[in-house]
Amino acid sequence: MRAADVSSDITEVLVTEEEIRAKLDEIAAQVATDYADQDLLLVGVLKGAIMVMADFSRALKKHVTMDWMAVSSYGAGTKSSGVVQIRKDLDTDILGKHVLIVEDIIDSGLTLSWLLENFAARGAASVEVFALLRKPEAAKVEVQCRYVGFDIPTEFVVGYGLDYAEKYRNLRDVAVLAPHVYS
Ligand code: 5GP
Ligand code: MG
Ligand code: MG
Repeated sequence: MRAADVSSDITEVLVTEEEIRAKLDEIAAQVATDYADQDLLLVGVLKGAIMVMADFSRALKKHVTMDWMAVSSYGAGTKSSGVVQIRKDLDTDILGKHVLIVEDIIDSGLTLSWLLENFAARGAASVEVFALLRKPEAAKVEVQCRYVGFDIPTEFVVGYGLDYAEKYRNLRDVAVLAPHVYS
């Protein structure tokens, strides 16, 4: 299904498939350099990060291991609930490991600061973050995100893994969801 098939649900394409691919190559090269002497564990945050994890890990010219965590802070709506819940925990013991959290988007930063604290408590050697997208709100909180793909405006976006009520994850681009869909 191409974006055109759901074009009435979308007001604007913010980041194209091609722009994402170019950015992932750029960040993958940076990460390979930064972790040249270390083993790296990528932790994808389900489900939003599935596409970025799949493409980013393959852009990395380095051996990595991967694990997944599922948390929820949004439910089915478009506003953060303020409560982070673990739905699926890591399979890996991260004690002494260098961890790079792979996230789709940082909005309030609430999910990420919770994850960073949680991973630090488990004794990871280092924890850094790669977020494909970042909203302006994220700048207000103390979340260090070492790698950021794109800074985007405060809009509810879907596509490339990001959903609204579990739909639109399979769009190739990142696009703004038309308000009529959720209002
Ligand atoms: P935060 O805790 O930083 O406010 O947001 C955490 C999670 O909320 C993100 O990982 C993502 O799953 C979801 N989220 C935040 N903004 C958006 C958005 O614009 N669109 C979608 N689909 N999900 C979002
Ligand atoms: Mg996420
Ligand atoms: Mg979601």
